[in-house]
Amino acid sequence: MEIKIIKAAPEKMKPKPKDESRLGFGNIFTDHIFTMTFKEGNGWRDAVIEPYRPLQLDPTAMCLHYAQEIFEGLKAYRGKNGEIFLFRPMENIKRMNISAQRMCMPAIDENVFVEALKKLVILDQDWIPHGEGTSLYIRPTMIATEASLGVHPASEYLFFIVLGPVGAYYPQGFAPTKIYVSEEYVRTAPGGTGYVKAGGNYAASLYASRIATDMGYTQVLWLDAREKKYVEEVGTSNIFFLIGDELITPELTGTILPGITRKSAIQLAEHWGMKVSQRQITIEEVIKSSQNGSLKEVFASGTAAIISPVGQIYFRGKEYMINSGQTGPLAEKLYNEILQIQYGLKEDSFGWRFKIN
Ligand SMILES: *Cc1c(COP(=O)(O)O)cnc(C)c1O
Repeated sequence: MEIKIIKAAPEKMKPKPKDESRLGFGNIFTDHIFTMTFKEGNGWRDAVIEPYRPLQLDPTAMCLHYAQEIFEGLKAYRGKNGEIFLFRPMENIKRMNISAQRMCMPAIDENVFVEALKKLVILDQDWIPHGEGTSLYIRPTMIATEASLGVHPASEYLFFIVLGPVGAYYPQGFAPTKIYVSEEYVRTAPGGTGYVKAGGNYAASLYASRIATDMGYTQVLWLDAREKKYVEEVGTSNIFFLIGDELITPELTGTILPGITRKSAIQLAEHWGMKVSQRQITIEEVIKSSQNGSLKEVFASGTAAIISPVGQIYFRGKEYMINSGQTGPLAEKLYNEILQIQYGLKEDSFGWRFKIN
């Protein structure tokens, strides 16, 4: 499929942010958007990169009522010599198609998807910030657009990609988070949509997150829905525990999002000769190992922060300190390694970097 490109007129282009230390996350968007539309019987059509614009939707567009919506999140990184890299983008593309299948949405041709990413990022490349740790966030999204209030898989969809410069996650160095174990609310249940990146999962998680933040915690540590016993994820990230010399992360049982950062951290730790277990881990085991001193580190993984150390866990009225509230050496090593691979500062022995220019 041909991707048509309609460039924004120079006088219509937005001013680029001047202060890269104040980019934050997710508030600034570039000059262009990629869109293509799907109609049952016709497949995907009208792939176009055009000036960034609001969408026009019928008020009964099904995504607005029944949450048939999925998305992805990845980043473009500026290398030292003007190269532009993506990090394992084919993983995002494959995951989006898995999400699409679960939500009864149409698959996207991998070649069209990757071409759209490349062409859009290259067209808006001046928006990729230069500062250390900054990047251009990429948000591919698919929504059901059929105008209908009947509950059924829609027959029409819109796929779009928008981009926005984002700041360094740790401009002042690591800031270990305090997390709150929720025993009342769950993120997802067996048989549900926990393994897909669907907006509905996020909507359902907001209430517990607000309780946690009202109590002074950064994120919710989610337990399994059935027994409220096994640790699943933290906030919108995957979670790791270093207990003794075993690095543990919950196995992918269908209620956990298969993070690409998670996968990369596992591969790196194994490559370094560590014992890595993808297995069920109970909150009891975490608390006990904290009490007996064998819990060395806890950290989250995800595209936004790469690795986010956890300094404190709140469970049943008590706070448990981890590594004295400090970032541990493994979290730091994983963070640095992945970051350097992403920015082209280190040899990419796994072939994760994807140069687009
Ligand atoms: C996106 C996401 C992650 C992290 O995935 P990455 O591919 O590493 O960015 C983890 N958990 C949830 C619920 C997510 O939505």
